[in-house]
Amino acid sequence: MTSPDTGPGTDPDTKPGNVVSADQEKRGLALHWKIVIGLGLGVLVGVALNRLWSDQTWASIGVNDAAAYLAGKTSDANSDAGAAAVAAKAAIKINWLAGKLFMSSLKFIAVPITLCALIVGVASLGDPRKLGRIGGRTIFLFVLTTVASIVIGLGISGVVKPGSFVDDATKTKLVSQRAAEAQKRVGAANEAKSFWDQAGAIVPDNPIAAMANTDMLQVVFIAVVIGAGLAALPRAKSAPVLAVLDALADAILLFVRWLMNLSPYAVFALMAPIVAGTGFDVLAALGVYAVCVVVGLAIVLLVVYPILLKLGTRSADRVGMSRFYRGMSPAMLVAFSSSSSNATLPVTMECSRDRLGVSEEITSFVCPLGATVNMNGTALYQAVAVTFLAQIFGVPLTITDQIAIVVMSTLSAIGTAGVPGASIVLIVMVLQAVHVPVEGIAILLAVDRVLDMCRTVVNITGDVAVATVVASREGQLGEPTDRS
Ligand code: ASP
Repeated sequence: MTSPDTGPGTDPDTKPGNVVSADQEKRGLALHWKIVIGLGLGVLVGVALNRLWSDQTWASIGVNDAAAYLAGKTSDANSDAGAAAVAAKAAIKINWLAGKLFMSSLKFIAVPITLCALIVGVASLGDPRKLGRIGGRTIFLFVLTTVASIVIGLGISGVVKPGSFVDDATKTKLVSQRAAEAQKRVGAANEAKSFWDQAGAIVPDNPIAAMANTDMLQVVFIAVVIGAGLAALPRAKSAPVLAVLDALADAILLFVRWLMNLSPYAVFALMAPIVAGTGFDVLAALGVYAVCVVVGLAIVLLVVYPILLKLGTRSADRVGMSRFYRGMSPAMLVAFSSSSSNATLPVTMECSRDRLGVSEEITSFVCPLGATVNMNGTALYQAVAVTFLAQIFGVPLTITDQIAIVVMSTLSAIGTAGVPGASIVLIVMVLQAVHVPVEGIAILLAVDRVLDMCRTVVNITGDVAVATVVASREGQLGEPTDRS
């Protein structure tokens, strides 16, 4: 394995990661196991609340809409229900606060880490041709994996026909139950930027606005331009700026490490209210559809990515499935609990760089770009969801329609933001393209959160699979500095 060309100030011995991983070794149980335990306990507490607390129990402590309350969207109606009720509500609020603070901490890091690490990465590349080659390979692999995922989704829903398992009564009930929410999403979809508008917005009018709005595509553009500019300057002039940015990037990644130590608790805080607020009866009615999505996502994770790694990486690098998934596990677990590629980005980058050995420059180029445009899980989900609704509403899909789904799902997966529930809005465009009634998204909304968690895992894992292949091809896949 060649050692990566890691650029200025990226001497592995000076990485903050080394200090912490030595620390972690002393602590025994690996981080991903601690997160799994947090997640499992969160699910257990959530299921207990879901099953044991009836609507009356919630009403008795002054909560009318339990799901909204658990998600921190509404405050309590009254507090005169005694000490036990006050304590229960305080516990729920503290839990919500813990989850919120963790998510906000991750989100606020996403822009600065991308900016600092990518500027340093691009500046250290020096040669613009190298940047073009890395960019070309990255985009090619993004599109390839997205199309493969959509084809898998179409294949599964074509064979299983999940729509035929939903009877008319369930369909009518679900459509009417969530009609208002569905209407809101359709309205948002009508206001959403078209693909061409988005392509035109890659160059920001205002860099500060780009950063303030967390527009990662624009942030990547800013970083590449500044990095290329610094690379073209005489070394004596650019070195001080690069040294500052490099130190900042390391400091931020150290903060990510500290946050990761809290992640088992945070994952508990995020999972318990999600599970407690989930309608499991609906999950049963839409079970076959949900299973189709989950099986499709599993195929991408367990077949497509391993094949990509096997065929894409140089044989000397030997990135086996177990090494890859072990390295990715903290990011996958955070993605599952947060349903947000953007919020998971700092952890994704940490796993890519420190746990898999992808160089800083490839990590900081591919991961932020992927969090914005490479959504394989989302693409597969959209393909299954659209065919599922077409089956329910009896709309036949011709070969031309299926090709339209591949094209539209690819474009809309590129346009989907890395935030919870984002693809539901863009799915409207795909439905319109093949003339499936858009009010059908009310049915999808019923089980969206659970499927969102699963597809987000596939989204971020795809980014790092591509980063690993590109790094290997560039001779920039080194030894991981963190083997915890
Ligand atoms: N939640 C997904 C993500 O952040 C996007 C989506 O499919 O809704 O990657």
